Amino acid sequence: MRRTNPLALLLLLILSGLARPAARAAEAPICEIYAAGHFGNWYEVAGVNEMRRVLAEAKAWGFNRYGDWFDAIDCVDLFSGDPQYSLANALWDLKRTHFQTAQSLGLATDLVITPNHVYRDQLKPEWLAKRGPRIQGQLICPHQPGAREAILKNYQNLFADLAKAGVNLTAINSAPYDYGGCACDQCKPWIITFAQLTLDIHKLARTYHPKVELHFIGWWWTAEEHKHFAEWMDEHAPGTAVSMALHIPYDQTGVADVPLPKGCRKHAFVQIGYPDQSTPRDFYAKTGPVAAPRRLAATVTNLSTQSVTGVMAYSEGIFDDLNKALLSALFTGRQKNSPDVLRAYARRYFGADDAQAGKWADWLAAWGKPYSVDAPPPGRRSITCQATARTGAAASGNSRPTCSPPTRRSAPVTSGPPSASRAPTNSGPPKRRCSARCTGLALCATF
Ligand SMILES: [Zn+2]
Repeated sequence: MRRTNPLALLLLLILSGLARPAARAAEAPICEIYAAGHFGNWYEVAGVNEMRRVLAEAKAWGFNRYGDWFDAIDCVDLFSGDPQYSLANALWDLKRTHFQTAQSLGLATDLVITPNHVYRDQLKPEWLAKRGPRIQGQLICPHQPGAREAILKNYQNLFADLAKAGVNLTAINSAPYDYGGCACDQCKPWIITFAQLTLDIHKLARTYHPKVELHFIGWWWTAEEHKHFAEWMDEHAPGTAVSMALHIPYDQTGVADVPLPKGCRKHAFVQIGYPDQSTPRDFYAKTGPVAAPRRLAATVTNLSTQSVTGVMAYSEGIFDDLNKALLSALFTGRQKNSPDVLRAYARRYFGADDAQAGKWADWLAAWGKPYSVDAPPPGRRSITCQATARTGAAASGNSRPTCSPPTRRSAPVTSGPPSASRAPTNSGPPKRRCSARCTGLALCATF
């Protein structure tokens, strides 16, 4: 038997060690915008051109995947043969168009699924799921005769319709809760019933989208469920789970250390719909634009140390516009830190020069604590912006407008009633002349 030369072995180890980071570096980080269109939010009603512009900007900042979910709340089965054009038809038609748009922009296209959430007209009394903690939605129990078949048929219809429209699904991202679940004895443990159902749905998806991957969303999972799921998947479907987007609880900036199926990549589900702090409660940006420069920077730093290789940004529309830029630019390494992102944002959309961009960055960062910002009073809210009405001028480099941030009456304050200091909602329309790319510029609404 030949002995291996120790020096050659050492050289080999060094070279392989050097090669590994290079190989990893070649893999682009997964950066997905989960543009969840539901309950009448911006994505659910966005016109095709509006969505194209927003997604194009998202991609410019670093996003490389697009995801959406068909929320069937208040909807009847649009594939039942009823000639009536219903809410379901309108919502799905628009989602299909958004998928086509995302694909045309070069984004991967993922369909988020919540398997046993069904159409309103499928809620037969004998099919209904048993309610319990975390279990909500229009749910049926997959163990009831005929219910599982109805669920599979629903997804078959969606997969076939997307394929017919030329959409190549890259993944289905399956979530067991919100909406989903059944607490009946036959479904226990739900996480395994969910896994079985998801595998059947994935198998169906592959008949229409042969390369579609299976990803999971860890929203609301317990540590025990992660352990059970990982063991079950390793035994029954090894290598099938491509990634798990682990839940980051509100006001936290990292994921839990939980077991994953072998080979399953660790991703993170990042809620970008709230500012640096989650209280006072506004998770959906209902009171205006949000900015989280400190929270998202800390999140990206922590995720890096936790070997997280992908993020899924939970987004509700254009009011988290700045957070889209922050998360994607930082996670993909396009920008080094939050101030750099904010300066780039000001240059791109406000036409700011270097000096102005720094001021804008300071101004934007203060909105991480929106209830502490002392906004200018009505009548004094204006920005010195020479932009014309030509949308798109800033990003295209043509006729760049020049803007300076509005002057706050004072530095951000730390006291006072929150409702009095929130800027834009309860006063007259601002006399604003800036119209540079305002479709994606929710923050313009604060002036
Ligand atoms: Zn059940």
